[in-house]
Amino acid sequence: MAQIRPHALIIGAGVSGLTTAVRLAEENVRVRVRAEKDPGHTNSAAAGAIWDPIYANHPKVGAWAARSYEVFRRMAEEDFPGVRLVDGVEASREPITSPDWARGLPGFRECTPDELPAGFAHGWHYTAPIIDMPPYLAALEAMVRAPGGDLRFGSRLSSLEEGFADADIVINCSGAGARELVPDPEVRPIRGQLVAIDNPGHAEFFAEHTVELGEMIYLLPQGDTLLLGGSAEEGIADPEPDPRVADEIVKRCGDIFPEIRNAPILGNRGGIRPSRSMIRLEHEDRGDRHIVHNYGHSGAGVSLSWGCADDVTAIVLGLLGR
Ligand SMILES: Cc1cc2nc3c(=O)[nH]c(=O)nc-3n(C[C@H](O)[C@H](O)[C@H](O)COP(=O)(O)OP(=O)(O)OC[C@H]3O[C@@H](n4cnc5c(N)ncnc54)[C@H](O)[C@@H]3O)c2cc1C
Repeated sequence: MAQIRPHALIIGAGVSGLTTAVRLAEENVRVRVRAEKDPGHTNSAAAGAIWDPIYANHPKVGAWAARSYEVFRRMAEEDFPGVRLVDGVEASREPITSPDWARGLPGFRECTPDELPAGFAHGWHYTAPIIDMPPYLAALEAMVRAPGGDLRFGSRLSSLEEGFADADIVINCSGAGARELVPDPEVRPIRGQLVAIDNPGHAEFFAEHTVELGEMIYLLPQGDTLLLGGSAEEGIADPEPDPRVADEIVKRCGDIFPEIRNAPILGNRGGIRPSRSMIRLEHEDRGDRHIVHNYGHSGAGVSLSWGCADDVTAIVLGLLGR
Protein backbone atom coordinates (compact mmCIF):
# COMPACT_ATOMS: atom_id res chain seq x y z
CA MET A 1 0.00 0.00 0.00
CA ALA A 2 1.29 3.48 -0.88
CA GLN A 3 2.35 5.71 2.00
CA ILE A 4 -0.41 8.18 2.86
CA ARG A 5 0.44 11.79 3.56
CA PRO A 6 0.52 12.33 7.34
CA HIS A 7 -2.03 15.07 7.59
CA ALA A 8 -5.78 15.46 7.26
CA LEU A 9 -8.23 17.78 5.58
CA ILE A 10 -11.40 18.52 7.52
CA ILE A 11 -14.34 19.85 5.57
CA GLY A 12 -16.52 21.98 7.84
CA ALA A 13 -15.88 24.56 10.57
CA GLY A 14 -18.92 23.95 12.78
CA VAL A 15 -18.70 22.21 16.13
CA SER A 16 -18.05 18.80 14.49
CA GLY A 17 -15.19 20.03 12.29
CA LEU A 18 -13.48 22.22 14.88
CA THR A 19 -13.71 19.67 17.71
CA THR A 20 -12.27 17.01 15.42
CA ALA A 21 -9.50 19.41 14.37
CA VAL A 22 -8.63 20.11 18.02
CA ARG A 23 -8.43 16.41 18.87
CA LEU A 24 -6.27 15.59 15.84
CA ALA A 25 -3.96 18.52 16.56
CA GLU A 26 -3.59 17.21 20.13
CA GLU A 27 -2.34 13.96 18.59
CA ASN A 28 0.16 15.89 16.45
CA VAL A 29 -1.71 15.30 13.21
CA ARG A 30 -1.33 18.34 10.98
CA VAL A 31 -4.76 19.61 10.01
CA ARG A 32 -6.24 21.87 7.41
CA VAL A 33 -9.88 22.96 7.72
CA ARG A 34 -11.78 24.10 4.64
CA ALA A 35 -15.30 25.42 4.98
CA GLU A 36 -17.70 27.59 3.10
CA LYS A 37 -18.83 29.30 6.32
CA ASP A 38 -16.47 30.45 9.07
CA PRO A 39 -17.27 29.20 12.61
CA GLY A 40 -19.29 32.28 13.63
CA HIS A 41 -21.65 31.82 10.67
CA THR A 42 -22.19 28.06 10.89
CA ASN A 43 -25.39 26.41 12.08
CA SER A 44 -23.44 25.42 15.18
CA ALA A 45 -23.13 29.09 16.13
CA ALA A 46 -26.94 29.31 16.31
CA ALA A 47 -27.35 26.45 18.79
CA GLY A 48 -28.54 27.00 22.39
CA ALA A 49 -26.63 24.90 23.36
CA ILE A 50 -27.50 22.56 26.18
CA TRP A 51 -25.92 19.14 26.62
CA ASP A 52 -28.82 16.77 25.99
CA PRO A 53 -28.33 13.58 24.04
CA ILE A 54 -31.90 12.86 22.97
CA TYR A 55 -32.23 14.42 19.52
CA ALA A 56 -29.87 12.18 17.53
CA ASN A 57 -29.70 8.51 16.76
CA HIS A 58 -26.80 6.03 16.82
CA PRO A 59 -25.96 3.03 19.05
CA LYS A 60 -23.05 5.04 20.48
CA VAL A 61 -25.02 8.17 21.39
CA GLY A 62 -24.86 7.34 25.12
CA ALA A 63 -21.07 6.83 25.08
CA TRP A 64 -20.42 9.93 22.94
CA ALA A 65 -22.64 12.06 25.17
CA ALA A 66 -21.01 10.80 28.37
CA ARG A 67 -17.53 11.52 27.02
CA SER A 68 -18.60 15.01 25.90
CA TYR A 69 -20.17 15.72 29.31
CA GLU A 70 -16.84 14.94 30.97
CA VAL A 71 -14.91 17.23 28.63
CA PHE A 72 -17.42 20.09 29.05
CA ARG A 73 -17.34 19.66 32.82
CA ARG A 74 -13.56 20.00 32.82
CA MET A 75 -13.74 23.00 30.46
CA ALA A 76 -16.27 24.72 32.73
CA GLU A 77 -13.99 24.17 35.72
CA GLU A 78 -11.12 25.71 33.72
CA ASP A 79 -13.27 28.69 32.59
CA PHE A 80 -13.00 27.77 28.91
CA PRO A 81 -14.82 30.52 26.93
CA GLY A 82 -18.55 29.93 26.63
CA VAL A 83 -18.79 26.77 28.78
CA ARG A 84 -20.89 26.78 31.95
CA LEU A 85 -22.40 24.15 34.23
CA VAL A 86 -25.99 25.12 34.99
CA ASP A 87 -28.60 23.52 37.27
CA GLY A 88 -32.09 23.12 35.92
CA VAL A 89 -35.10 20.99 35.14
CA GLU A 90 -36.02 18.82 32.19
CA ALA A 91 -39.71 17.94 32.14
CA SER A 92 -42.20 16.04 30.03
CA ARG A 93 -45.89 16.64 29.45
CA GLU A 94 -46.30 12.82 29.48
CA PRO A 95 -46.19 10.74 32.69
CA ILE A 96 -42.88 9.05 31.79
CA THR A 97 -40.13 7.79 34.08
CA SER A 98 -36.77 9.58 34.12
CA PRO A 99 -34.49 8.16 31.41
CA ASP A 100 -31.45 6.10 32.41
CA TRP A 101 -28.99 8.61 30.92
CA ALA A 102 -30.29 11.27 33.29
CA ARG A 103 -30.13 9.21 36.47
CA GLY A 104 -26.34 9.13 36.71
CA LEU A 105 -25.85 12.85 36.14
CA PRO A 106 -24.57 15.31 38.73
CA GLY A 107 -27.45 16.97 40.60
CA PHE A 108 -30.03 14.38 39.49
CA ARG A 109 -33.20 14.20 41.51
CA GLU A 110 -36.84 13.71 40.54
CA CYS A 111 -39.02 16.83 40.68
CA THR A 112 -41.84 16.95 43.18
CA PRO A 113 -45.23 17.78 41.57
CA ASP A 114 -45.17 21.34 42.93
CA GLU A 115 -41.83 21.98 41.17
CA LEU A 116 -43.35 21.35 37.73
CA PRO A 117 -44.89 24.10 35.60
CA ALA A 118 -48.57 23.76 34.65
CA GLY A 119 -49.13 21.11 31.97
CA PHE A 120 -46.06 19.02 32.84
CA ALA A 121 -46.43 15.55 34.33
CA HIS A 122 -42.89 14.46 35.14
CA GLY A 123 -39.47 16.04 35.45
CA TRP A 124 -36.05 15.83 36.97
CA HIS A 125 -33.31 18.17 38.10
CA TYR A 126 -29.75 17.85 36.86
CA THR A 127 -26.66 19.90 36.14
CA ALA A 128 -26.02 20.38 32.43
CA PRO A 129 -23.23 21.96 30.44
CA ILE A 130 -24.66 24.95 28.53
CA ILE A 131 -22.46 26.37 25.83
CA ASP A 132 -22.48 29.94 24.51
CA MET A 133 -21.54 28.91 21.00
CA PRO A 134 -20.02 32.01 19.35
CA PRO A 135 -17.21 32.50 21.93
CA TYR A 136 -16.82 28.73 22.32
CA LEU A 137 -16.30 28.17 18.58
CA ALA A 138 -13.88 31.11 18.44
CA ALA A 139 -11.84 29.54 21.25
CA LEU A 140 -11.81 26.14 19.48
CA GLU A 141 -10.64 27.88 16.30
CA ALA A 142 -7.79 29.48 18.26
CA MET A 143 -6.84 26.03 19.61
CA VAL A 144 -6.56 24.72 16.05
CA ARG A 145 -4.51 27.71 14.87
CA ALA A 146 -2.08 27.71 17.83
CA PRO A 147 -0.08 24.60 16.80
CA GLY A 148 -0.11 25.67 13.13
CA GLY A 149 -3.50 24.42 11.94
CA ASP A 150 -4.48 25.96 8.62
CA LEU A 151 -8.08 27.19 8.33
CA ARG A 152 -9.55 28.43 5.04
CA PHE A 153 -13.07 29.77 4.81
CA GLY A 154 -15.25 31.12 2.06
CA SER A 155 -15.29 28.51 -0.67
CA ARG A 156 -17.62 25.61 -1.23
CA LEU A 157 -16.31 22.19 -2.28
CA SER A 158 -18.41 20.51 -4.94
CA SER A 159 -17.33 16.96 -4.01
CA LEU A 160 -15.42 15.10 -1.31
CA GLU A 161 -12.89 14.02 -3.94
CA GLU A 162 -11.92 17.67 -4.39
CA GLY A 163 -10.48 17.42 -0.87
CA PHE A 164 -7.92 14.82 -1.96
CA ALA A 165 -5.92 17.66 -3.54
CA ASP A 166 -5.10 18.72 0.04
CA ALA A 167 -4.74 15.38 1.84
CA ASP A 168 -5.16 11.63 1.47
CA ILE A 169 -7.41 11.61 4.52
CA VAL A 170 -10.53 13.76 4.14
CA ILE A 171 -12.82 14.14 7.13
CA ASN A 172 -16.36 15.05 6.23
CA CYS A 173 -17.88 17.33 8.90
CA SER A 174 -20.16 19.18 6.53
CA GLY A 175 -23.39 18.93 8.57
CA ALA A 176 -26.45 19.60 6.46
CA GLY A 177 -24.09 20.34 3.54
CA ALA A 178 -23.50 16.56 3.31
CA ARG A 179 -26.80 16.27 1.44
CA GLU A 180 -25.14 17.76 -1.67
CA LEU A 181 -21.47 17.14 -0.91
CA VAL A 182 -21.55 13.34 -0.44
CA PRO A 183 -24.28 13.38 -1.87
CA ASP A 184 -26.51 11.85 0.82
CA PRO A 185 -30.26 12.27 0.30
CA GLU A 186 -30.82 10.85 3.81
CA VAL A 187 -29.69 14.18 5.27
CA ARG A 188 -32.69 16.45 5.73
CA PRO A 189 -32.58 20.04 6.96
CA ILE A 190 -34.64 20.96 10.01
CA ARG A 191 -34.53 24.66 10.81
CA GLY A 192 -34.45 25.66 14.45
CA GLN A 193 -34.90 29.09 15.97
CA LEU A 194 -34.13 30.77 19.27
CA VAL A 195 -35.01 34.17 20.67
CA ALA A 196 -32.48 35.99 22.84
CA ILE A 197 -33.99 38.21 25.55
CA ASP A 198 -32.65 40.28 28.40
CA ASN A 199 -32.51 37.71 31.21
CA PRO A 200 -35.16 38.68 33.80
CA GLY A 201 -33.33 36.64 36.45
CA HIS A 202 -33.36 32.97 35.41
CA ALA A 203 -30.31 31.30 36.90
CA GLU A 204 -31.58 27.78 36.07
CA PHE A 205 -32.45 26.21 32.72
CA PHE A 206 -35.76 24.65 31.79
CA ALA A 207 -35.93 22.11 28.94
CA GLU A 208 -39.04 20.36 27.71
CA HIS A 209 -38.43 16.64 27.21
CA THR A 210 -40.00 15.25 24.03
CA VAL A 211 -39.18 12.19 21.97
CA GLU A 212 -39.18 14.13 18.69
CA LEU A 213 -37.87 17.60 17.89
CA GLY A 214 -40.85 19.93 17.75
CA GLU A 215 -42.25 23.06 19.30
CA MET A 216 -40.67 22.24 22.63
CA ILE A 217 -40.06 24.91 25.22
CA TYR A 218 -36.68 25.70 26.62
CA LEU A 219 -35.07 28.55 28.50
CA LEU A 220 -31.29 28.57 28.58
CA PRO A 221 -29.51 31.20 30.70
CA GLN A 222 -26.31 32.62 29.24
CA GLY A 223 -25.52 35.16 31.94
CA ASP A 224 -27.42 38.40 31.20
CA THR A 225 -29.04 36.79 28.16
CA LEU A 226 -31.78 34.17 28.24
CA LEU A 227 -32.25 32.06 25.11
CA LEU A 228 -35.82 30.93 24.44
CA GLY A 229 -36.66 27.97 22.23
CA GLY A 230 -37.55 26.29 20.19
CA SER A 231 -38.81 25.24 16.81
CA ALA A 232 -38.29 22.42 14.33
CA GLU A 233 -39.26 23.31 10.80
CA GLU A 234 -38.84 20.21 8.64
CA GLY A 235 -37.42 20.63 5.16
CA ILE A 236 -36.47 24.31 5.54
CA ALA A 237 -32.84 24.85 4.54
CA ASP A 238 -32.75 28.64 4.88
CA PRO A 239 -31.34 29.55 8.32
CA GLU A 240 -32.78 33.08 8.23
CA PRO A 241 -35.10 33.35 11.28
CA ASP A 242 -38.80 33.74 10.57
CA PRO A 243 -40.25 36.54 12.79
CA ARG A 244 -43.60 34.74 13.00
CA VAL A 245 -41.92 31.63 14.45
CA ALA A 246 -39.97 33.86 16.87
CA ASP A 247 -43.23 35.45 18.11
CA GLU A 248 -44.70 31.98 18.68
CA ILE A 249 -41.63 30.93 20.71
CA VAL A 250 -41.94 33.98 22.98
CA LYS A 251 -45.67 33.34 23.41
CA ARG A 252 -45.25 29.64 24.25
CA CYS A 253 -42.49 30.36 26.78
CA GLY A 254 -44.42 33.32 28.21
CA ASP A 255 -47.53 31.18 28.77
CA ILE A 256 -45.51 29.07 31.19
CA PHE A 257 -43.04 31.64 32.51
CA PRO A 258 -45.02 34.95 32.53
CA GLU A 259 -42.06 36.96 33.84
CA ILE A 260 -40.38 36.78 30.41
CA ARG A 261 -43.26 38.46 28.56
CA ASN A 262 -42.03 42.01 29.04
CA ALA A 263 -38.29 41.34 28.83
CA PRO A 264 -36.57 43.23 25.98
CA ILE A 265 -35.86 41.07 22.92
CA LEU A 266 -32.19 41.16 21.96
CA GLY A 267 -32.39 39.21 18.69
CA ASN A 268 -33.38 36.07 16.82
CA ARG A 269 -31.16 33.15 15.83
CA GLY A 270 -31.76 30.54 13.16
CA GLY A 271 -29.84 27.46 12.11
CA ILE A 272 -30.21 24.18 10.28
CA ARG A 273 -30.03 20.88 12.13
CA PRO A 274 -28.46 18.15 9.97
CA SER A 275 -31.13 15.52 10.50
CA ARG A 276 -30.47 11.88 9.46
CA SER A 277 -31.99 8.55 10.51
CA MET A 278 -28.62 7.78 12.08
CA ILE A 279 -25.41 9.75 12.59
CA ARG A 280 -22.82 8.72 10.02
CA LEU A 281 -19.44 8.21 11.65
CA GLU A 282 -17.41 5.73 9.63
CA HIS A 283 -14.38 5.18 7.44
CA GLU A 284 -14.88 4.91 3.69
CA ASP A 285 -11.91 3.20 2.05
CA ARG A 286 -11.01 4.59 -1.38
CA GLY A 287 -7.83 2.54 -1.86
CA ASP A 288 -4.91 4.92 -1.25
CA ARG A 289 -7.32 7.62 -0.19
CA HIS A 290 -9.66 7.72 2.80
CA ILE A 291 -12.81 9.52 3.84
CA VAL A 292 -13.95 9.62 7.45
CA HIS A 293 -17.54 10.76 7.79
CA ASN A 294 -18.76 12.65 10.87
CA TYR A 295 -22.14 14.20 10.10
CA GLY A 296 -25.89 13.87 10.64
CA HIS A 297 -25.94 14.90 14.33
CA SER A 298 -29.41 16.43 14.07
CA GLY A 299 -30.31 18.27 17.30
CA ALA A 300 -27.42 16.96 19.42
CA GLY A 301 -24.21 17.84 17.58
CA VAL A 302 -22.81 19.92 20.42
CA SER A 303 -23.72 17.30 23.05
CA LEU A 304 -21.92 14.54 21.17
CA SER A 305 -19.03 16.53 19.72
CA TRP A 306 -16.14 15.33 21.91
CA GLY A 307 -17.14 11.67 21.82
CA CYS A 308 -17.47 11.75 18.03
CA ALA A 309 -14.16 13.60 17.64
CA ASP A 310 -12.43 10.91 19.73
CA ASP A 311 -13.76 8.17 17.44
CA VAL A 312 -12.73 10.02 14.28
CA THR A 313 -9.28 10.57 15.80
CA ALA A 314 -8.92 6.85 16.57
CA ILE A 315 -9.80 6.02 12.94
CA VAL A 316 -7.29 8.56 11.58
CA LEU A 317 -4.48 7.39 13.90
CA GLY A 318 -5.19 3.83 12.76
CA LEU A 319 -4.91 4.89 9.11
CA LEU A 320 -1.60 6.58 9.88
CA GLY A 321 -0.36 3.39 11.55
CA ARG A 322 -0.05 4.96 14.99
C1 LIG B 1 -31.66 26.49 16.95
C2 LIG B 1 -30.80 25.29 17.22
C3 LIG B 1 -30.60 24.88 18.53
C4 LIG B 1 -29.80 23.77 18.80
N1 LIG B 1 -29.60 23.42 20.09
C5 LIG B 1 -28.76 22.40 20.38
C6 LIG B 1 -28.49 22.06 21.71
O1 LIG B 1 -29.02 22.67 22.65
N2 LIG B 1 -27.63 21.03 21.97
C7 LIG B 1 -27.01 20.34 20.95
O2 LIG B 1 -26.23 19.43 21.23
N3 LIG B 1 -27.25 20.63 19.66
C8 LIG B 1 -28.13 21.65 19.35
N4 LIG B 1 -28.40 21.94 18.05
C9 LIG B 1 -27.86 21.07 16.99
C10 LIG B 1 -26.43 21.41 16.63
O3 LIG B 1 -26.35 22.79 16.42
C11 LIG B 1 -25.99 20.63 15.38
O4 LIG B 1 -26.14 19.25 15.56
C12 LIG B 1 -24.53 20.94 15.10
O5 LIG B 1 -24.34 22.35 15.04
C13 LIG B 1 -24.03 20.33 13.82
O6 LIG B 1 -22.70 20.78 13.67
P1 LIG B 1 -21.84 20.47 12.38
O7 LIG B 1 -20.49 20.99 12.65
O8 LIG B 1 -21.98 19.02 12.03
O9 LIG B 1 -22.57 21.31 11.21
P2 LIG B 1 -22.56 22.88 10.89
O10 LIG B 1 -22.49 23.70 12.10
O11 LIG B 1 -23.71 23.10 9.98
O12 LIG B 1 -21.20 23.11 10.11
C14 LIG B 1 -21.04 22.61 8.80
C15 LIG B 1 -19.77 23.21 8.20
O13 LIG B 1 -19.53 22.56 6.94
C16 LIG B 1 -19.38 23.54 5.93
N5 LIG B 1 -19.79 22.98 4.66
C17 LIG B 1 -20.94 22.31 4.38
N6 LIG B 1 -20.95 21.95 3.09
C18 LIG B 1 -19.79 22.40 2.55
C19 LIG B 1 -19.19 22.33 1.26
N7 LIG B 1 -19.82 21.72 0.23
N8 LIG B 1 -17.98 22.92 1.04
C20 LIG B 1 -17.33 23.55 2.07
N9 LIG B 1 -17.84 23.64 3.31
C21 LIG B 1 -19.04 23.06 3.55
C22 LIG B 1 -20.23 24.71 6.43
O14 LIG B 1 -19.89 25.91 5.74
C23 LIG B 1 -19.88 24.70 7.90
O15 LIG B 1 -18.62 25.33 8.10
C24 LIG B 1 -29.18 23.05 17.73
C25 LIG B 1 -29.37 23.48 16.42
C26 LIG B 1 -30.16 24.60 16.16
C27 LIG B 1 -30.32 25.03 14.74
